[in-house]
Amino acid sequence: EKPFTTLKKALAETKQQRDAIEVGDAVVHWFRMDMRLGDNKALSIAAEKAKSKGMPLICIYILSPQDFRAHFTAPVRVDFLLRNLEVVQRDLAKLDIPLYMETIEKRKRIPARLIDLCKEWGAKHVYANMEYEVDELRRDATIVRECAAAGIAFDVLHDGCIVEPGMLTTNAGGQISVYSPWYRKWCKYIADHPDTLKEYLRPEQNPPEARQKYKALFDVPIPPVPEDRQLTDEEKERFHGLWPVGEDEAMARLNKFIKERIKVYHTNRNLPAGNHTSAISPHLTAGTLAARTCVRESLKAINKTVPTDDRENGSMKWIGEVAWRDFYRHVLCAWPYICMNVPFKPEYNNIEWEYNEEQFTAWKEGKTGYPIIDAAMRQVKHMAYMHNRVRMNTASFLAKHLMIDWRMGERYFMENLIDGDFASNNGGWGFCASCGVDPQPYFRIFNPLLQSEKFDESGEYIRKWVPELKDVKGKAIHDPYSRGAGAIASKNGYPKPIVNHKESRERCLARYKAGIGRA
Ligand code: FAD
Repeated sequence: EKPFTTLKKALAETKQQRDAIEVGDAVVHWFRMDMRLGDNKALSIAAEKAKSKGMPLICIYILSPQDFRAHFTAPVRVDFLLRNLEVVQRDLAKLDIPLYMETIEKRKRIPARLIDLCKEWGAKHVYANMEYEVDELRRDATIVRECAAAGIAFDVLHDGCIVEPGMLTTNAGGQISVYSPWYRKWCKYIADHPDTLKEYLRPEQNPPEARQKYKALFDVPIPPVPEDRQLTDEEKERFHGLWPVGEDEAMARLNKFIKERIKVYHTNRNLPAGNHTSAISPHLTAGTLAARTCVRESLKAINKTVPTDDRENGSMKWIGEVAWRDFYRHVLCAWPYICMNVPFKPEYNNIEWEYNEEQFTAWKEGKTGYPIIDAAMRQVKHMAYMHNRVRMNTASFLAKHLMIDWRMGERYFMENLIDGDFASNNGGWGFCASCGVDPQPYFRIFNPLLQSEKFDESGEYIRKWVPELKDVKGKAIHDPYSRGAGAIASKNGYPKPIVNHKESRERCLARYKAGIGRA
């Protein structure tokens, strides 16, 4: 059974039981990837419930090192999360709402611990926003049932997706596997259900007795960073400067993007140099900002209420990109086997991959001799972030030029990105390696040189990230060794291309063809 179905069943089958549960002494909201007070569905509903009964709201956060290991969560992402948690704790405290935090090593202990805490606090209602990964859905299904049996109503709501998974189907009722028709249905769904973009209210002040009654919960320290997710002092300083935290920061970023750049997003979005995109992905991943908010606010700015499939309009094009995030989540819920290290397209299981450590290291270190690839790989090392166009180029280069198993690249991205997100990352890698849902056809192999000339024409992006080439003039920047800049490149220690484009292309076509043929 699909874990998404398991959870839906658990919710449906316990509904009556949960509805019959009388209010307790407090209502609980469980924070996960929704690090904000504004426009947060489960938090808002929990707060509303508490207020209507004159009860306090208690918030909790459970840190699970096992989940970090399972998802290869980057230390920088853990750090971003914990810094956001600090802001959430501070903002809640202003409303006299406590945030209880705890590290639980073994995730199977979470259900029992949650029940114990609820009993301790006299809470009989718990709310959380759904996480769509396999283990998380299964965990929630268990908790729904175990809580119900213990007289506690646990409700899991849709907040991470704008349109709930399972709502947009083919005529036969299945998940749509091609983005464009799926997106048209997504737009129509929002037009037909205006509540989809509704803004959820922030929680209000807790009743005055809350501080006294739950005193011990107010000064709980932020959970320590797990041993295997530590940053160095230098990394901390760098990432803290690059990525300020908090929902106010996220909103400010969104508003600035809408005001200054969204209008020309459709023309500039593919240029990795400069700031042409929103760089909001770390906030969407941590949940300091809701995707719903992004769509609503960008529509509001052009006096619209409904998105359309208009690729020549900057705002609509941007909304279409935000929708990709929903698309990959819907795909994950419908075809959860993609979580098991297998390609979406089973016929791509038989491709012969290389496991060349030396070339993999050259790729990771940004030393492939292809300047656009190297610039991008160094950007991710420095910023824990990479522009979408070059994410596509580097992923394609790994899978198709080096023929290195794309899953090694997928994992490396998760281990290093501040916005690492299973569904979007797996979707992106599947697209580039041609074995994912609605992918690039396998015979379409990006030529890194042409990509570089097209999207970084002046070489600004390369010069920023590959200092060895900063003195290379003109078009030689894209391919210094064959365009007369070999002397500068070699003097500065910049490597020669580790593979030849034409030969790699031919090898890739042959391997893919043979692999698919074997299926
Ligand atoms: P903008 O262009 O401003 O877009 C706004 C938002 O829309 C993004 O923040 C993101 O949430 C969403 N979005 C845009 N493009 C995509 C897309 N292709 N797929 C899914 N969502 C999208 N995105 C992640 O959030 N986490 C990942 O781990 C991740 N891994 C990727 C791996 C590969 C190989 C590829 C090709 C793409 C990956 N993406 C991932 C998608 C995309 O590259 C980033 O979301 C985007 O670059 C983030 O920058 P931005 O916020 O400026 O995007």
